[in-house]
Amino acid sequence: MNPPENRIESTLLRRINERRLLEAIQQHGPSSRAALTRVSGLTAPTVSKAVDALLKRGLVEELDPVTPALGRPGRLVRMAAETATVLGVVIDAKVCCVVATGLDGRVTEERTRRFESPGDYEGLLDGIAGACRGLLGEGGAPLLGIGVSVPGLVNERLQEIVVSPNLHLLDKRNPARDLSGRLGCSAVLVQETDGLCLAERLYGDARGLADFAMLDVSAGLGLGVMSGGDLLKGHSGMAGEVGHITVVPDGIRCGCGNRGCLETLATDAALTRLCSEREGRQLDVAEVVGLLADRPDAFVAEVETVTTYLAVAIAAVINIFNPTALFVHGTLLAGSPERFARVLEAVRQRTLTASLADCTIRATRSSKRQGAVAGIIRQITQGWAPTIR
Ligand SMILES: [Zn+2]
Repeated sequence: MNPPENRIESTLLRRINERRLLEAIQQHGPSSRAALTRVSGLTAPTVSKAVDALLKRGLVEELDPVTPALGRPGRLVRMAAETATVLGVVIDAKVCCVVATGLDGRVTEERTRRFESPGDYEGLLDGIAGACRGLLGEGGAPLLGIGVSVPGLVNERLQEIVVSPNLHLLDKRNPARDLSGRLGCSAVLVQETDGLCLAERLYGDARGLADFAMLDVSAGLGLGVMSGGDLLKGHSGMAGEVGHITVVPDGIRCGCGNRGCLETLATDAALTRLCSEREGRQLDVAEVVGLLADRPDAFVAEVETVTTYLAVAIAAVINIFNPTALFVHGTLLAGSPERFARVLEAVRQRTLTASLADCTIRATRSSKRQGAVAGIIRQITQGWAPTIR
């Protein structure tokens, strides 16, 4: 019989191989065992054993190829889309949503429930738990876990939201832990910009990239940085708060309590506020989209102001982190090719030339729904084995 330390080593090695295969399947989509052997660099018997273990754990499923290859048709292995369910929860200042999907991470409108964000924490949990139960009640595969995307500063050591400047009812809370208690399944807290990074890497244009950054400029200004394939965390997981750099020392009050933070001038929320002041009534983002389309000349100064500060934010990220790509998540400037081109023009004036030459900047296609889902899928597929690069 093997001594115990050898058994531990072989278990660990098996798990590392299984995780490596999962990453290959996520990256390449449905693949035959032969293809997985090629891309993973593992031996055919090791791949076969690892696939069997993953099938048993319910993390992958088999399907027949659409056009069988000549000779013996090899069945394809893919992430469990039909045989496993995960839920993605997005908590946001105005609207919350819950989406159900498989481990393939495909989000659809049919399996999404939205509701206006309640004004108190218990109401929020009730709303989310109700939406989760509704989606699960429609039948389907067993639930493996819930990813909960939240705005604000998440202290990973303490596992709580330290402060959420645009949604203070989350301060000192952990809705993932509370939902886990109510629904009796595992749930993970996902800082929303980290979630966007994970989603962009799994499903978007950052596939295969090890060094990129994600700037969320919707309600607040959040930054996620993938460095060498890992999310940059800092001591407690709170790194990346460029949104609260002071840019106007006596500017307007920010949700964090300080004045004149970059977040108050560089976001969709900032442009919405400035346009509301111009119009003399409270607008929402959708209304501003309409106004900018109908009467662009009426808001030139407002757009110019936010364009300038967004360019400052983008330039700061590129100068500090030297990413190969920077993704911008937002609606009013990032969502309009013309206005985004103006932002990029302003970025060129404010970024170190060498750093900018290294970096492509583009608007992201990922959503926070995908981010919440990517967060729980990462927990399920990677939480149990270290990676080896
Ligand atoms: Zn602030």
